[in-house]
Amino acid sequence: MRNSIQKMLALGGIVGILFTSSGCSAQAVRWGQQAPSLPPQEEVVEATPEPTDWVGSKHIDTMVEQTQGPLSPSGKSYAYYETVEPTYIDGVLLVNKEYALPRAYGDGEDATAYQALLKLQQGAQRAGYSMPLMSGYRSFETQEELYNDYVAVDGEEKADTYSAWPGHSEHQTGLAFDVGWVDLQFAQTGAGQWLAKHAHEYGFIIRYPKDKESITGYQYEPWHIRYLGVDLAEKVYESGLCLEEYLGVV
Ligand SMILES: [Zn+2]
Repeated sequence: MRNSIQKMLALGGIVGILFTSSGCSAQAVRWGQQAPSLPPQEEVVEATPEPTDWVGSKHIDTMVEQTQGPLSPSGKSYAYYETVEPTYIDGVLLVNKEYALPRAYGDGEDATAYQALLKLQQGAQRAGYSMPLMSGYRSFETQEELYNDYVAVDGEEKADTYSAWPGHSEHQTGLAFDVGWVDLQFAQTGAGQWLAKHAHEYGFIIRYPKDKESITGYQYEPWHIRYLGVDLAEKVYESGLCLEEYLGVV
């Protein structure tokens, strides 16, 4: 009881000081005067200006994690990626700029996804298109090298629109493939149009659709497919939503 009264008095004192300094009501000043005298550090804390020029979680994360070792391009410490757990939403592994994989995750293509890819390639072949696999599983380290190379060429801001930070690449899941032609013009080709229309029949979605850049965090990638299994891929395809929207994590 006595403790809580002391707490209330101390709190009143802090509130009083805050109000006083920001020019608030006279009553608030009186509360401050009734409170026991405050330790001097309260005023020191108050004198520190609130940072106003840090916008976006990346920079705030940077500040929080700075003491924990070298930083990944994501703004998180590399130590974060040793212990982070994969995120499953309704049983679907979700990897994007927010949700990461641990450094050691994965050791190759998922066997089921790879079998589905072979069937997709055969389907494309029957329709008269070639659908070569350009890129499958990538380790954390491979993604790191790749990302750093892109940054060296294009700078960080542009690289972030098309290349994932290490630990945030869907290729590390073993469930994602780049097929056909890794170029925006692929969307205009017969093969690209076939893929957009039929990928779901084999259990895949076009993971980074056109006009969903602000949600997925990546530009349109008509060549990047993600395995979900036929049932879910059909549903996502029919919904017209990107995966984040479909899973309700926007
Ligand atoms: Zn890709």
